[in-house]
Amino acid sequence: MNPLLQDAANRASHYLDQVRERRVAPASSDLEALKKLAVPLQGPSIDPAQVLAELDAIGSPATIASAGGRFFGFVTGGSLPAALAANVLAAAWDQNAVLELCSPVSAALEKVCRPWLLSVLGLPAEAEVGFVTGATMANFTALAAARHALLEKLGWDVESQGLFGAPPITVIVGGEVHVSLLKALGLLGLGRDRVVRVPVDGQGRMNAERMPAIEGPTIVCIQAGNVNTGAFDPADAIAARLRGTGAWLHVDGAFGLWAAASPGRRHLTVGLEQADSWATDAHKWLNVPYDSGLVFVRDAGALNAAMSSSAAYLGAGESRDPHLFVPEMSRRARAVEIWAALRSLGRDGLAQLIDRNCEHASRFAVELRKAGHEVLNDVVLNQVLVSFGSPEATRSVVAAVQQDGTCWCGGTVWQGRTAMRISVSSWATTDDDVDRSVAAILRIAEQVRSAGG
Ligand SMILES: *Cc1c(COP(=O)(O)O)cnc(C)c1O
Repeated sequence: MNPLLQDAANRASHYLDQVRERRVAPASSDLEALKKLAVPLQGPSIDPAQVLAELDAIGSPATIASAGGRFFGFVTGGSLPAALAANVLAAAWDQNAVLELCSPVSAALEKVCRPWLLSVLGLPAEAEVGFVTGATMANFTALAAARHALLEKLGWDVESQGLFGAPPITVIVGGEVHVSLLKALGLLGLGRDRVVRVPVDGQGRMNAERMPAIEGPTIVCIQAGNVNTGAFDPADAIAARLRGTGAWLHVDGAFGLWAAASPGRRHLTVGLEQADSWATDAHKWLNVPYDSGLVFVRDAGALNAAMSSSAAYLGAGESRDPHLFVPEMSRRARAVEIWAALRSLGRDGLAQLIDRNCEHASRFAVELRKAGHEVLNDVVLNQVLVSFGSPEATRSVVAAVQQDGTCWCGGTVWQGRTAMRISVSSWATTDDDVDRSVAAILRIAEQVRSAGG
């Protein structure tokens, strides 16, 4: 047995054993200790075992315990045991997923995962998939395919000619569009600020009736799972408005798309299958290690044309080289963990993961409401927004909860209201984690209230 890898496995295993009981945010002394890393790069080589020991001693305590069950910040999944173990094995493989030739196994796993993913996410069987770093790049990649397809119809080859002099594309988004989608539009030369924003309701859902009439080449971006409320745009109504217009419908479903994997929540995703492209994360709700996102495009040719590094696009019947569907060339074999996660969970385990997280979110909402606190959103998924009174009081509760260490919840501003955001997205969260976290939040809210905050 390789002693260094054995040592790494032991340390990783020890880390996971203690992370569930540890405080979630590192103590200030642990953050202070990070300064010990800041040494000038020495001349002589150092024994790898000593390097690992140093990393563990200084690095492990300064992690956020998001691998445990009580981190509810942003939308953050953990790592399923099978996905983590596969990741360790794949690190030893050190495969370059660029070409089938460089990594037959990763090309094969991508092919296997494609129909599995399309099926659990309820997407059309003809859609092609790209394995990217996260939903930001998935949005970017899908919108590049959209840009290609819309301009090609007008006789403009955007990959070779660029956007200077091209027919303008109208981009329509909801008023609560995720910043990553705007960033992707900026990277693509479509502009962050030239979007047309459609008004939304109190849950952040686009009002389909108020969408402008479609004229000329148009991309419409809707959301499956608002990052604050978890709400879904009315896909059916929007798709109906777009029928026959030639507009490209894109879905940012970073976490919400996974609702389709649960028979009890699939109704939330009705209509999304009519879109032309979809972006989602695997590192959020599928609970694989970072970084891992997925892009799906109905028109495989458009995706391939936008992402190919040469004008010679993929011909039918040729091998499926993974780089033909993503921005990168050399990259890690992300399908490994996605395959392991799906293979270990099965359809039933995946549905149970989604349902358990949603039920825990509902429990947070019920308990906090019962104690007199205001829940600002309809808890349809895994997201809960809570106000503790004034903006100052809410900010004080959020800061004190993070400081307390029992759990970790972030702050947000939802349509002008300061709130605590609780996102339940990890396989590791248990009933006990929710009970302990509710108790800590209520205790802290009471302390803030009695201190007059
Ligand atoms: C998290 C999120 C993104 C960005 O995903 P990354 O994985 O951070 O790139 C985009 N859209 C929504 C709705 C999200 O929740």
